[in-house]
Amino acid sequence: MSSHPTVERRSAAATTPRETRLWHSQAHMPSVKRSERVIDRGEGAYIWTEDGHRLLDLPASLWYANVGHGRPEIAAAIADQLGRIEAYSTFQRYATRPALELADRLADMAPLDDPRICLTSGGSDSVELAAKLVRRFWDVQGRPEKRLIVTRDEAYHGLHGFGTSIVGIEANREGYGELVRETARIDTNNPESLQALIHERGADTIAAVFCEPVIGTGGVIPPAPGYLEAIARLCREHDILFVADEVITGFGRTGRMFACDRYDLRPDLMLTAKGISSGYLPLGAVFVARRVWEPFWADGSELVFRHGLTYAGHATACAAAMANLDVLEAEDLVLRVAELEPVLVAALAPLADHPLVLEVRAGVGLLGAVQLHDGALAAEVAERMCEHGVLGRQLNDGALHISPPFVITEQEIATVAETIAEALDWAQAKA
Ligand code: PLP
Repeated sequence: MSSHPTVERRSAAATTPRETRLWHSQAHMPSVKRSERVIDRGEGAYIWTEDGHRLLDLPASLWYANVGHGRPEIAAAIADQLGRIEAYSTFQRYATRPALELADRLADMAPLDDPRICLTSGGSDSVELAAKLVRRFWDVQGRPEKRLIVTRDEAYHGLHGFGTSIVGIEANREGYGELVRETARIDTNNPESLQALIHERGADTIAAVFCEPVIGTGGVIPPAPGYLEAIARLCREHDILFVADEVITGFGRTGRMFACDRYDLRPDLMLTAKGISSGYLPLGAVFVARRVWEPFWADGSELVFRHGLTYAGHATACAAAMANLDVLEAEDLVLRVAELEPVLVAALAPLADHPLVLEVRAGVGLLGAVQLHDGALAAEVAERMCEHGVLGRQLNDGALHISPPFVITEQEIATVAETIAEALDWAQAKA
């Protein structure tokens, strides 16, 4: 018998693809069930597949590996916390020190009025909690008719019940029937569309507008100049809650700690996940401004927000987040994103002239997309990029996804642009 059974098993798997039993997220299983790309390890901006290929992690997994892979200091913080207590519920009066410290730290960094922090297990959980909280808030204000949750046409807010109901990407909603009622959509980048909705439905029916400062999964669509500010202003003027979904943009992705800082927004709720822990453990957080939390916290109040998740405030996930934020601060990585923003813009700009390219979208931190005329080509182009060492991924609308770890270098950004150009040339020559 081999003394290296693991190695033996791996090479067997590499030569005899068998049908997986893992049901991949958002995957067309007939296409992937015998062709999984198995990731074995990571370091910095790179990952390695089990069969030994090194790939520059251009999408930072799913927009979250912000401080880069394989950080020993985060692994050590996790191990340390596991050695004390892995987790304890935060229901009723219970708490753990990492959950308390993280809540304090987040509250101090946030662009909200004296926030309170609800911890969750990820982005969809944050959306679900926020959607229930905005409705409950109006209910306790004696205005239960304020129920509508408004989102933008290309929005993505995760795929739990509320998220699926408010998503702007139609395919994500098909086949489930009506999940959550009383939702509405507005144009992606035209504030007059919200004005019209207010006129049509009445502000007294609208609970909140949920808004990704930069639309991510829908195609990396930066806000039109003044758009976010106009939406926030309309919300203020009409007594509608403004909810910033910073699941992608939070914790540095736009070159500021939060996109709300960049666009000078003061949301009533701010939703986060991903970059809060850079994916070292699953975690999310909802920041709640004073106006919304106060009725539930006031001495003498009888109110309870009856929402809660078993793993809310999971001690080890919180310890991972604290260590992740330490790295972000110690290495000035948010500033680094701001420095790299023009580098990325300049590197991608020439791709706009390629005959296969409709447009290049960039200019907000380390976020970008190369939109092809024929979206159906994006998967092939992305695959070609992988063959040349850069992990290509297509977004929902047939654009190439760009959101690298913050530790990417200028040289690596140049390599990304060259690799995309080569893959586009290859696809064009083939057509
Ligand atoms: N909100 C936004 C803006 C997202 O981009 C995502 C995921 O990509 C979510 C919510 C859902 O997060 P999760 O997949 O962690 O549930």
